[in-house]
Amino acid sequence: MPARTPEDLRQQCLRLDGRGYKAYKALEGEYRFPDFTLFIDHVQGDPFATPSRVRIRVPQAVAGFPPDLWEHPSRRVAAEHFILEAVHRALPRWSRPRGTGHSGRYFVEPVGQAMLPRTAVRLGAFGVELRFALGLPAQGRRILGRVAAQMLLEELPSLVRAALLYPSLPAETLRQYADVAEDADFLRQRLEAMGLVAFVADGSLLPRRSGIDDRPLTQGIPFQSPPSLRVHVHLPRAGVVTGLGVPQGVTLIVGGGFHGKSTLLRALARGVYNHKPGDGRERVVTHPKAVKIRAEDGRSVAGVDISPFIRNLPLGRETTAFSTENASGSTSQAANIMEALEMGARVLLMDEDTTATNLMIRDRRMQALIAREKEPITPYIDRARQLYTEHGVSTVLVLGGSGDYLDVADTVIAMDTYRPVDVTQQAREVAARFPTGRVREAQGPIHRPRRVPLPESLNPRKGRKPVVVKAPSRETLHLGTQTIDLRAVEQLVETAQTRAIGLALVYAWERYMDGQRPLADIVAQVMADIEAQGLEVLCRTPYPTGDLAAFRDLELAAALNRLRTLRVLGTRSAGR
Ligand code: ADP
Ligand code: MG
Repeated sequence: MPARTPEDLRQQCLRLDGRGYKAYKALEGEYRFPDFTLFIDHVQGDPFATPSRVRIRVPQAVAGFPPDLWEHPSRRVAAEHFILEAVHRALPRWSRPRGTGHSGRYFVEPVGQAMLPRTAVRLGAFGVELRFALGLPAQGRRILGRVAAQMLLEELPSLVRAALLYPSLPAETLRQYADVAEDADFLRQRLEAMGLVAFVADGSLLPRRSGIDDRPLTQGIPFQSPPSLRVHVHLPRAGVVTGLGVPQGVTLIVGGGFHGKSTLLRALARGVYNHKPGDGRERVVTHPKAVKIRAEDGRSVAGVDISPFIRNLPLGRETTAFSTENASGSTSQAANIMEALEMGARVLLMDEDTTATNLMIRDRRMQALIAREKEPITPYIDRARQLYTEHGVSTVLVLGGSGDYLDVADTVIAMDTYRPVDVTQQAREVAARFPTGRVREAQGPIHRPRRVPLPESLNPRKGRKPVVVKAPSRETLHLGTQTIDLRAVEQLVETAQTRAIGLALVYAWERYMDGQRPLADIVAQVMADIEAQGLEVLCRTPYPTGDLAAFRDLELAAALNRLRTLRVLGTRSAGR
C-alpha cells in the first residue's frame, strides 16, 4: 500500500470513532509526515491484547546526528542508548491510561545501566528509528477515535521533537556516552594482550543501591588500586587512566566479611558490558569471555563430562556424560564450569557465597578422614592451575574461608574497608610458613566438552501456536511448554536479552540444530548471523520489533543447557 498522509490518518481516526475495536486494523500502514515516517506495523485485536506495534523513522537530513555518533559501532550503541533514555524521559508527559486496557499508554523497552545493542532505537546513515508499542484507545470495545488522533498526530510528532532530533538533545552528554563506550570497548579488546583479565579504574564506584536497584550507591567509597597492581592504560578518548589490572592466572580476592569482596566480583562479572556515564562502572572492563560460575542445585544437566571434578559416583554412575534432572550443589557447579569451557570461556569468576564448598576444597584433615577412593569429588583447588596452564582459563575467586588456596594463587588481593591491597607476597610467606600438608588430588587431563544437541530437544509449539517464546522477566523464559530458569545466569541483565535468547534458541533449532553440529558451533553460527544481519534476524514478525537486546554466546548456551528437555550426543575433544 502506498504511503498515506497525516491528513488521511486524521480522517481515518475520526471515521473510526465509536466503531468496534476490530475496525482499527484499517490503520495499519505507512504515513509520511513532514519530518518522519510513521509505520503502524501491527494493530492489536482488542484493548487488552499486546499493544500495537509502531515505528517512527526520521531521516538523517532532518534528525541531524553527526556521523561520529553512528559510524563507530561502540559509539553508535551508546548514542542509541542515550536516545532511548531521552524517549523514556519524554513519554510520561503523554503516556497515561485513556480508556480500557492498554488504551492511551506507550510501551517502550526499558533501558538499564548497561549500554547494550538493542532493537528499540536504531541510528545510522539513514537516520534514526524508534520502535515501540502503544495502546490504541477504546472505551470498552468502542474506538476512541479522537484520542487516537491526538496520540498519533500530536503526541508522536512531539515525541520526535523531544527525543529523536539531535539539536534537541544535550550534545555534550551524548558525546560523553559515546566516548565512554568507545574507550570501554577499546580496552576490553586489549586486555588479553596486556596479560589482564580485567581492569578497574581508580575512582570507579562499585556498590549498588540495593539488590534490586542497579544504580550506584550514592555514598560509596571510590575504588583505588594498590600501587603494585596499578596499570596505566591509554584510552582513545579519556587519555591515560590508571587502575587495578587483574592479571591472568589464578587470583584470589580475600579479606574479612563485609569489606567489599563480593561487590568487586559482581562488578567484574558486569564488566563484560559497557556502562553509561555516571554508573560508576563505566571503566570496569572485563574479558568478554568471563563467566560467573556458581552452584545451582536443582538445575538439569544433559550429558556433560564432569569427570575432571566428579567421578566414581556411588553405584558406579557415569560422569563423563553426566545427566540429571536435579543436580546437587557440587554437580551443578561442575557442570557450569565444564559448559563454560565448552563455550571457550577464558575467565571463571566465583564467589564463596555461592559456590559448593565440597567442590572448592578438601583439606588435609578431610583427606585423612575420608579416603580418596571414597570421595568422588576432585576439588577446584586441584584443577585451578591446570585450567590455566592447559586451557588458558584464568580464575578470579572470592574466598575468606580457606587459606589452602594460597598455594595455587598467582595474585592475592585483600579487600580492606573497600580498598584493595596487594598481599601476594605476604600470602607466599604464609603459605611457606604453614604448609597445609594437602595431597594434590587431580589426575588426568581436562577435556573441553563437545556435545551435539539433538533437534528433538526443543519444541517451541504450544497448543495451536507453532512457536511460543515469552520472557516475562530477566530470569524466566517460556519456550513452547517448557520453562527455562535463568536465575543463576547472573550475567544476563535485561528481560530484552532473555527474550532475544528465546528467539535465538528457536532460530538455532530451525537452522542449525541438525543432530550433527556441536553445541558451540551452533551458537557460533547464530552469533555470526546476528553480527552480519543485526538482532532483527531473530524477529519472527514481518516487521522489526523494539523489544530485543544483545546477549553473549555464553548466555545463549547457558539457556540451552538449562532446557530440561535437552538431549545430546557426547564426544570429547582434547586440549584447547
Ligand atoms: P564481602 O563480600 O566482603 O562480605 P560485600 O561486597 O558484600 O562484602 O559488601 C558488604 C557491604 O558493603 C555491601 O552492603 C556493599 O554494598 C557495601 N560496599 C561494598 N563496597 C563499597 C564501597 N566501595 N563503598 C561503600 N559501601 C560498599
Ligand atoms: Mg561476600
